[in-house]
Amino acid sequence: MWHSPKGGDLQMVPLRKTFHILPPDDYQLAGKCAELVYFHQNNKFCGVCGGQMKWQTEISKQCCECGKELWPSLATAIIVRVTRGDEILMVHAHTFRDRHYGLVAGFVETGETLEECVQREVWEETRLRITNIRYFASQPWPYPCGLMVGFTADYLAGEISLQREELSDGGWYSRDRLPFLPDPSSIAYRLIDDWVKQTDKHF
Ligand SMILES: [Zn+2]
Repeated sequence: MWHSPKGGDLQMVPLRKTFHILPPDDYQLAGKCAELVYFHQNNKFCGVCGGQMKWQTEISKQCCECGKELWPSLATAIIVRVTRGDEILMVHAHTFRDRHYGLVAGFVETGETLEECVQREVWEETRLRITNIRYFASQPWPYPCGLMVGFTADYLAGEISLQREELSDGGWYSRDRLPFLPDPSSIAYRLIDDWVKQTDKHF
């Protein structure tokens, strides 16, 4: 903690925690800044000729030697809420740092549509078939340079068989026995919360 010139104490806070402190617009702006810093630190030299890269605009760089222009590349990932009647599919990955359960998610591969990615990830992680894939919302995910694209889908067929290399647990959960939920800053939480509220209206 240190003293600000304008008075008051300042404290360093990890970006993710600022979700709970800053207004939404400021949180998003802080994320954008973090992504640009990451972009700068990882693109000091040109990938084509090795020349020095300099800032060209506020969001792009250019090689001083060959003129190659470069923009930050986003790692696009899908996340999907699969439901079956009044149950929701939730999984716990080995990489999760706490006990919360999330939704099936994964990075989009080259040459793949978002919808194909949704189907592939659900199949790879659970061996389930799904239908009625619908766009929900998206969210910048500056950890370090992601874009999460959220979908909803209905269960179609199959029995759950978890991809054990990636997942430690998973299954169907009803709203009265949901496991620990993801952090409210995540689109996973929004997808689950939206479903719980929808289901509330039905009962
Ligand atoms: Zn170059």
